[in-house]
Amino acid sequence: MAVNEALYTSIITALNEQQVTLVAVSKTKPVEDILNLYNLGQRDFGENYVQELEGKQNALPKDIRWHFIGHLQSNKVKYIAPFVYLIHGVDSYKLLQEINKQGIKQNRVLNVLLQMHIAEEETKFGLDEKELAHIITLLKNEPMTNVVIKGLMGMASFTDNQEQIKKEFAFLKTSYDKYVGVKNQNLQFQILSMGMSADYKLAIEQGSTMVRIGSLLFGNRK
Ligand SMILES: *Cc1c(COP(=O)(O)O)cnc(C)c1O
Repeated sequence: MAVNEALYTSIITALNEQQVTLVAVSKTKPVEDILNLYNLGQRDFGENYVQELEGKQNALPKDIRWHFIGHLQSNKVKYIAPFVYLIHGVDSYKLLQEINKQGIKQNRVLNVLLQMHIAEEETKFGLDEKELAHIITLLKNEPMTNVVIKGLMGMASFTDNQEQIKKEFAFLKTSYDKYVGVKNQNLQFQILSMGMSADYKLAIEQGSTMVRIGSLLFGNRK
């Protein structure tokens, strides 16, 4: 299935009005589809797999802002550190240390979001509030030179229960609000990444500033 250009235009127009950033999630989709949206003005794209991201980054225009939204293994950080724009799914201090190390090597400050566990499902990655507070305390005691936490990211439960999803997004917004006013070398909260194809409108109602939309724009994945 090709990119739905009319739908893209109506979504991006609405998001611009609400000052919400769209990350077009292009995982598993060919570079032609990405170029299609690029030619309509889209610059933020999200990928889940390091190898796939490397290949697409090589093949596509250099002014694309690449978001890594998958689960990142420490030993793979080095492959994306030279060019990645924002890493969404950081959920351990150890991973943060490795990102800082690779940032130093590349002479770049790497922007990241900490991923919170907000869904009911056990399988999804992410921090709870205590773990979040702990990481922030560790950073206060020992700042990192080449990493900045720009905010939080989360994924709601895979359910039709709108009230449940709403509750989970509201919880993430509350965690986010605790740190918005705290600014230091490593903490500059300004991005709340929540909402996907099925729940992005609900996420925006709950305060999302960045949505990650894939299948709605590019068609279903295999
Ligand atoms: C795949 C993915 C998305 C996009 O999902 P859609 O339902 O296709 O919009 C968003 N966020 C993350 C973390 C993903 O892995």
